[in-house]
Amino acid sequence: MSGGKADVAIVGGGLSGGLIALALQQSRPDCQVVLLEGGETLGGNHRWSWFASDCDSEGEAVLARFRKSRWDGYDVVFPAHSRRLETSYFSLASHDFDAALRRELAPQTIRTGAVAQHCTHDSVTLASGEIVNARSVIDCRGFSPSPHVRGGWQVFMGRHMRTRTPHGIAHPVIMDASVDQTHGYRFVYVLPLGASDIFIEDTYYQDTPELDRSALSARLDAYAGDQGWEGDIIGSETGVLPVVTGGDFSAYRRDAGLDRVATAGTGALLAHPLTSYTVPFAVRTAQLVAQNADLPGDQLAALLADQARQHWNRTGYYRLLGSMLFGAASPRERYRVFERFYRLDRDLIERFYAGRSTLGDKLRVLSGKPPVPVLRAIAAIANKQPPLVAR
Ligand SMILES: Cc1cc2nc3c(=O)[nH]c(=O)nc-3n(C[C@H](O)[C@H](O)[C@H](O)COP(=O)(O)OP(=O)(O)OC[C@H]3O[C@@H](n4cnc5c(N)ncnc54)[C@H](O)[C@@H]3O)c2cc1C
Repeated sequence: MSGGKADVAIVGGGLSGGLIALALQQSRPDCQVVLLEGGETLGGNHRWSWFASDCDSEGEAVLARFRKSRWDGYDVVFPAHSRRLETSYFSLASHDFDAALRRELAPQTIRTGAVAQHCTHDSVTLASGEIVNARSVIDCRGFSPSPHVRGGWQVFMGRHMRTRTPHGIAHPVIMDASVDQTHGYRFVYVLPLGASDIFIEDTYYQDTPELDRSALSARLDAYAGDQGWEGDIIGSETGVLPVVTGGDFSAYRRDAGLDRVATAGTGALLAHPLTSYTVPFAVRTAQLVAQNADLPGDQLAALLADQARQHWNRTGYYRLLGSMLFGAASPRERYRVFERFYRLDRDLIERFYAGRSTLGDKLRVLSGKPPVPVLRAIAAIANKQPPLVAR
């Protein structure tokens, strides 16, 4: 930093902020970057997963710096259909994210305990009163509920268990929807992290953001018990993620003041509307910023606003499917939408998760015998889901 002014100040050291800092370090090591994180660690308490088909080779190079788990193939299980898909799958724990960034980024880049109160395109005011000046500021503070976006919620509790005897699972189970369907589409997600290490997550696509910790914890106990897994709990996480099915993109941005400051990550709605996965989009944004590292803050804001608008326009189809999921299928029947989806071609499924479905894919997903009543599906598209605000 020269004269107290950074080239790029990134606000929020979560997934998107951390990946931008790393991509800048990799392709523009001359750039003076400061990564301002309000918490004490980078990445919070998360586990992020993604498919090999989500990123191109340059994106993979950004993610290559992290220690992560990899599996060649994954399973899905539904009441009437199970399948192994050969696509490779990755998972990264936030403590490995934090460790890699501390190892890879230039000294003095990371500032934890730095809570931002106000951002402009070229300055950040911290809660301490300190002002950090930069040629450009990128706001990566994450999604805040807004009355301008609508939809439902993906709510989950995950648990890392160390089993007393090897659990015997070789591949991740991305969706085990053979479980009782309560409160919406429910599935258990299983990652074998080691011979005696297993991550189990109980997930719901539900209408409200309520997370009933004791109920989810009891269901995780029951699931582990059914599999014969006994052992110690060595970590846990919870999530309440928006599943965006519609809204007024311009009003959302205007209300949040996003057009004045470069914004990345879930705050810019750079997520897959239906799955809430963000890794592929966070990687692409990190690459875009690294390619445009010299832009002044107002121009970077315009570039990232344009990227976010393109993403919103490109992902309308997934919001439509989300509307049908929440509006047309009764909560206990929502699993049928995914069960049918997982009968389709592997390439189509890969493009779907990466947010790159072709027109042919889109028609294919909607063709054939619908898993939900047609009239209810049409009504669901017309009837809007509620705003994504805490209730
Ligand atoms: C438990 C969990 C599991 C998930 N699993 C997956 C997954 O497997 N795959 C996937 O693709 N997506 C997953 N997601 C969804 C999504 O990828 C994550 O939410 C992702 O972390 C979003 O990235 P982000 O950078 O927008 O926000 P975050 O990663 O939440 O980062 C925001 C950062 O900003 C910091 N911050 C906030 N306010 C301030 C402030 N005022 N000053 C300074 N710092 C501030 C926060 O402390 C945080 O570190 C998961 C989400 C959760 C919650």
